Amino acid sequence: MPELPEVESVRNGLVDLVSERTIGKVTVRWDNIIKEPKIELFQKSLEGQTIETIRRRGKFLLFILTDYVLISHLRMEGKFRLEVEGTPLTKHTHVIFSLNGGQELRYLDVRKFGKMSLVSKKELLTHPSLTSLGPEPVEEELSIDWMVEYLKGKKRAVKACLLDQKLVAGVGNIYADEILYDAGIRPNRSASSLTDEEISVLRSSIVRIMKEAVEAGGTTIRTYANAYGREGSYQNSLRIYGKVGSDCPICHSPFIKTKVAQRGTHFCPVCQS
Ligand SMILES: [Zn+2]
Repeated sequence: MPELPEVESVRNGLVDLVSERTIGKVTVRWDNIIKEPKIELFQKSLEGQTIETIRRRGKFLLFILTDYVLISHLRMEGKFRLEVEGTPLTKHTHVIFSLNGGQELRYLDVRKFGKMSLVSKKELLTHPSLTSLGPEPVEEELSIDWMVEYLKGKKRAVKACLLDQKLVAGVGNIYADEILYDAGIRPNRSASSLTDEEISVLRSSIVRIMKEAVEAGGTTIRTYANAYGREGSYQNSLRIYGKVGSDCPICHSPFIKTKVAQRGTHFCPVCQS
């Protein structure tokens, strides 16, 4: 599943291509992709709207239009492609936005788990998908005070908190493992057991790793390989994710793979406590 750095890479690849383009006819070929409003209203409302820019919040892409915002979550394998009108459709093409200039922005999704919502600009601030999101994982927004407050009294594993999008937006399974290894914290540690000092280290790891991953264009593995956007190179910088069977370069113990928060989880039994 694309996490913040991969979604940011998609945004980056797409924003210059579609900004200031006007949407014409919209075709929906798989209704379940559209969460709201009803398909007919979705299509009708989009007609004539100009794409001002694309922003991102957590793992959500936000297409800022003249009057509306199209909120898109790619989930497992959603991707956008810009094609010349008339290019044959694949069976995985589910939504087609005609653009002025004879091109189409197409949404493809092999697994069909992706979702789109069209909301008015005013509604965006109070939209449920965004109001529960925690701060972005950047220096200026993710404060130690907030993290201490949030993790206090939570019995759940710290990895579950990293994944829940409320402590911090945009972290998924790959980066959670990388962050916890970097911070020297076991993924299954109860959140409430972390000391203030550990939380401070955790915060630094979140900010640094997410920043480095964004700068590298995210991770290109399997299904993101053809996603719009630059091919990311962070897969070469992963230190622990997917490295089961390798030894920790710091202490030379074999990495362990287990399950935490129902997700495959890698950790070093010596460096992480
Ligand atoms: Zn180690």
